[in-house]
Amino acid sequence: MQPPSEASDHAQDFARRYALPLDAYCAIRMEELKIPDSLIGADDLRAHMKWTSFDPEGREGGTITRGIVVNSGVLNPELLKGEKGGKAWEEARLRDRIDAIIAHGYEESRLGDHLMALKAAAKTKLPITNGARRICRAMAR
Ligand SMILES: [Zn+2]
Repeated sequence: MQPPSEASDHAQDFARRYALPLDAYCAIRMEELKIPDSLIGADDLRAHMKWTSFDPEGREGGTITRGIVVNSGVLNPELLKGEKGGKAWEEARLRDRIDAIIAHGYEESRLGDHLMALKAAAKTKLPITNGARRICRAMAR
């Protein structure tokens, strides 16, 4: 979890305005990556939540609960500032960041552990973009 910053506020504002197309994109992208249907999106992040693959309210990049949900953190270039992969993340395109988050969420759902997921995502079998692979490798270093 990142502390609130101007960058994360801006990302969340953008995410709220584009929540519907981002939800559609993330759901379709998870299908393309062959994520099992049961793991595409979730509705259990808070009470009375609609099922979604993109949650503009979240800021940490993504979550894995009942399923994988991408969130406004993918729009924040400073999400990993000062952490492993921070530079690769900042320089990456949105679609690469989204693939990286999906790969991390998938591996975390499989392994049940964040640190193991960091390692596994770096060599994931999912057909993510090269840019996403670069992020995942940098995060695992
Ligand atoms: Zn994790």
